[in-house]
Amino acid sequence: MSNSKIQGWILDLYHKNGKMNIWVKSKNGLHQLTDDWIPFIYVSGEKSDLIELARLLNNPNILFEEKYLSPETHRKSEVLKIPVHTHNQALDLAKYITLSSRKFSLFNVDIPSEQIYLYEKNIFPLAQIEANLKYNSIRWQISDKSSDINYQIPELNCINLDVTTNSQNKISSFKDKLQKITIRNQEEDIIIDSNDEEENLLELVRLFKKIDPDVIYTHNGNSFLFPYIENHAQKLGISNQIILGREQNPLKILRQKARSYFSYGRIHYRPTSIRILGRIHIDTKHSYLHNDCGLEGIIEISRTCRIPLQKCVDSTIGTSMTSIQLYHAFRKDILAPWFKALPEDLKTAEELIIADRGGLYYSPRVGVHEDVGELDFSSLYPTLMCKFNLSGETVRCRCCPQSRNKVPELGYNICEKRRGIVPISLEELLEKRLRYKQMMKEARSPLLKENYRKRQAALKWILVCA
Ligand SMILES: [Zn+2]
Repeated sequence: MSNSKIQGWILDLYHKNGKMNIWVKSKNGLHQLTDDWIPFIYVSGEKSDLIELARLLNNPNILFEEKYLSPETHRKSEVLKIPVHTHNQALDLAKYITLSSRKFSLFNVDIPSEQIYLYEKNIFPLAQIEANLKYNSIRWQISDKSSDINYQIPELNCINLDVTTNSQNKISSFKDKLQKITIRNQEEDIIIDSNDEEENLLELVRLFKKIDPDVIYTHNGNSFLFPYIENHAQKLGISNQIILGREQNPLKILRQKARSYFSYGRIHYRPTSIRILGRIHIDTKHSYLHNDCGLEGIIEISRTCRIPLQKCVDSTIGTSMTSIQLYHAFRKDILAPWFKALPEDLKTAEELIIADRGGLYYSPRVGVHEDVGELDFSSLYPTLMCKFNLSGETVRCRCCPQSRNKVPELGYNICEKRRGIVPISLEELLEKRLRYKQMMKEARSPLLKENYRKRQAALKWILVCA
């Protein structure tokens, strides 16, 4: 890579072969940039044990650094910073170190490499940037902020992809013959329906190359459409020609276990996500963030929470909320423990009853009532957390036992000296949501109004997780 400058917006990023791959959309097209960068994990312990561990691992790039081991501590500790080639290697190494000795604690093991990269470089998806390429590394200059509400995003080339089979049933299976493929973009519907399956699939590849979409919408792309295409290409012996991403790799579906999860009283099923490198794949059947808030909402969350667009589409809302907190901790040199499970301090039964007022409601007087008023608090809990500086490390902090700020009735002291990670993270979300709601009211154009509605609705989703 020679020395040069690229201006544009970060569309996609992923770590591969010891390099961060970043796709930047500029006014003249797409650029694939690579940065020689690998992630790292941290280990704490006695200095002599750490020196011994470093000697044992025999990696010349291991460093000592000073970090806070938790948000509660006021003093930094010396820890080992160990570079790893991949996220999986981070996990393997962490397991190895933990199994070999109980003397060590591990940190930042669970954070995906792409997020560490975004935090470290202080950039975010669809940020407007200038990338200065020198040898094999990138120096980033950013010209907007994640807190901006009037940001510019490039025009994205979006398509809808659909396959139709000759199935007689409502639900198609891999055994059914491919009848036609439909690509819909803003201007037209392109239908591929020759009688030859092989010809159809190869035409799809040709059209993808020609149209070069940034965003691919499918309905059920994760659990049917892409696996079906892969399966048929395999049967026809043309698997290695099915290149749909911007990298020259054929479509390959990693058979990971799909999972179900429980959220807000419902069990959701989430199939393995299909990643088309360099493009964003949105399976509308499985992305409720998209269905409620559209691409506009996904972009808003991705920017605010510093999480790659594709990850924002595929993961739960909680993952985005965690990301913004991890970012703030990262910037303050606070490490995130591995197996993050901080048990609450033990409370007596009486304290529990007093503390759990949130779950207490009065039984209504039965009957039909007139003149009933309604009070709707906008983001009540996040607002309280922000206003009163409530965070794991600020309630019952050790630095301010005599704090004037107390939890009512329980009398727990709340930190006066430092702002907690949770309130810092929530502030930006609350403030932006309020401003979008205002802009929604003031906007003259229906399109703009709808965009602001989607952005504030997306922020509302995130705030629900607080
Ligand atoms: Zn304090």
